[in-house]
Amino acid sequence: RTRTSADLIRAEEPVLAHNYHPLPVVVARAEGAWVEDVEGRRYLDLLAGYSALNFGHRHPALIEAAHAQLDRLTLTSRAFHNDRLASFAERLVELVGQDMMLPMNTGAEAVESGVKLARKWAYDVKGVPADRATIVVAADNFHGRTTTIVGFSTDESARAGFGPFTPGFRIVPYNDLAALEAAVDETTAAVLIEPIQGEAGVLIPDDGYLTGVRELTSRAGCLFVADEIQSGLGRTGRTLAVDHEDVVPDLVLLGKALGGGIVPVSAVVGRREVLGVLRPGEHGSTFGGNPLAAAVGCAVLDLLETGEFQLRATELGAVLREGLTDLVGRGVVGFRSRGLWAGVDIDPALGTGRDISERLMRAGILVKDTHGSTIRIAPPLTITEEELRGALASLEKVLTET
Ligand code: PLP
Repeated sequence: RTRTSADLIRAEEPVLAHNYHPLPVVVARAEGAWVEDVEGRRYLDLLAGYSALNFGHRHPALIEAAHAQLDRLTLTSRAFHNDRLASFAERLVELVGQDMMLPMNTGAEAVESGVKLARKWAYDVKGVPADRATIVVAADNFHGRTTTIVGFSTDESARAGFGPFTPGFRIVPYNDLAALEAAVDETTAAVLIEPIQGEAGVLIPDDGYLTGVRELTSRAGCLFVADEIQSGLGRTGRTLAVDHEDVVPDLVLLGKALGGGIVPVSAVVGRREVLGVLRPGEHGSTFGGNPLAAAVGCAVLDLLETGEFQLRATELGAVLREGLTDLVGRGVVGFRSRGLWAGVDIDPALGTGRDISERLMRAGILVKDTHGSTIRIAPPLTITEEELRGALASLEKVLTET
């Protein structure tokens, strides 16, 4: 007999590392903003693969591009050129207004690559003495899970037990320009921040913070590296979250939605002076820039170049904001949102974020909690207004019926 959801959840337990605590739903197929479990129950997906599914599940244009590429060429490694990578690179740098790109696969790899680039630039161009470069990061950051990256996390559950860590990082409070100013000195290669802190609960800095970071880093002669892996590619209503302040970083880290929810695709996009420091043999990736990734990436760029999804995020973001505003004092303590992305603090009296997520799941809505009683809402940008209003109605019901 075919295995039920309960069978499959039980079967994972002895053979799968327990590094996640998934909601008890076993997804078997999906389309658009909807997923369906093994038993055929349907759920509206308000997580969208942590924003890797900005264009929804199985967007027809992305699936078509992937199928076409599967029929021609999937992998060459960078030992050879492939006929897909040039136009992906040209179009990506054009979209974000930069000079060059470095293709990688996952978000963490893009962050690691950004760290390496910043250090190499500091030694080769800025003239920082060997092995003295520092990188300033923000408290409550989330940049991924490698040993170097968790080494500059302030989340004990991400760090504890994984040391010793890579030196050379300084941590300052987020959204605090004075603290940043005090931490930057002649050894500073870069300031690395998320323009909006996603995993921290969708924390949006004050207006002017990103402009301030740009001015400060320019003045200090160090790089501004923006981790747009979760905030970028349409989610906030602009192509990049830094676009809200018309700020241009020296390096932009992209991932998640760049692969259309089909393949892992990440990139460092930035100035020639920085990306130009790499010589053959100094950095690489077997899969980075593979033709399947580039073909899907180009199809993602087709979607982003129209501006349609950025506009949808803005318009539907207003609907989301209005719906959440209406719930403040009725189960919602407060929320922060930009575009189609919100961190919602639930009244702790109603339960933890996990409890609320499970109740929403039973009501046919999938969300993920972050810390304590905060849940985040980030539906595919393809969600319809009707679907979004339905989700808000379910949220209201779950929060007010208890
Ligand atoms: N940077 C940010 C801002 C993220 O939100 C994430 C993932 O959530 C990452 C980096 C790491 O990406 P990946 O899980 O693909 O390594």
